[in-house]
Amino acid sequence: MAGFRHFWPLALVWRALAAIVLIASSALAQAADYTGPLFDAHLHYNEEAWDGNTGPHPPADVLARMQASGVRAIVANSRPNAGSLTLAALPQTRAAGVTVVPFVRLYRSRADYTGWFADDSIYDMVLAELARGTAAGPYRGIGEFHLYDSANANGPVAKKLMALAEQRDLVVLAHVDDVAIDLLMAHTPSQGQKLRLVWAHTGIGGAPVERVDALMARYPGLVGELSYRPGLVCDDNQLCPAWRMLLLKYPTRFVIGSDTWVNQRWQHYESLMQGYRQWLGGLPPDVARKVAWDNAAGLLGVARP
Ligand SMILES: [Zn+2]
Repeated sequence: MAGFRHFWPLALVWRALAAIVLIASSALAQAADYTGPLFDAHLHYNEEAWDGNTGPHPPADVLARMQASGVRAIVANSRPNAGSLTLAALPQTRAAGVTVVPFVRLYRSRADYTGWFADDSIYDMVLAELARGTAAGPYRGIGEFHLYDSANANGPVAKKLMALAEQRDLVVLAHVDDVAIDLLMAHTPSQGQKLRLVWAHTGIGGAPVERVDALMARYPGLVGELSYRPGLVCDDNQLCPAWRMLLLKYPTRFVIGSDTWVNQRWQHYESLMQGYRQWLGGLPPDVARKVAWDNAAGLLGVARP
């Protein structure tokens, strides 16, 4: 079968050409990364990162990571609040071009995670922090707090804090499930029509997109923060189709965040932000800009950098 011998190389050439065309066309189809400013709307500067004297991530380290990532503003909520106060007070923060928006964390220590919703000393601490304020101005919000059992949204301190947040126009940052969103909103004087609530992870347990959509429609002040959200990102690190549709339906209602809840998140801070830039780049530029910056900036009154 000598005749086949010189057909084989030709077949290989064709296959190679086809592969090159395929790679080139998918590269062309892939959008460029978003390059504008980022607002990290869910950041912790906890004591294990830096306790004021020592730690693996001193202020110079975290500020350098923000600067390298194009992060120009952060919601700071730290356990204990000292971490946020440190970032708010440092001249190096301003020098790095980072605006700090402080939130009152409900946790003095890890023990507070599980009982804050019924602990009056937490409510008193929140009032004292609000009265004290920070070097970067008054606290703008309350949280992050967690509810691992949504029924605890009916705890006496949870109820009081929701009413307080609406009365004082404070933004709430809540790591809760979809059931707790309804319960928390019900505790506000407006029945959830005025409260501005950032839903950390937009349902870390994976509430269905249709349910998220329904909650967005019901509560005009509900904003979804997208770290750790299951099912958000698909192939090539682009938004999955259902999430892309949801962000296009509510372009003013989503924000991004790092959620540096453990030091490992600080170690990967730059790549987390680069991951956001990739899928943001696949959105229409005006929507990308809103999710990356404008939505959080508008919610929290931060000027464009
Ligand atoms: Zn968090």
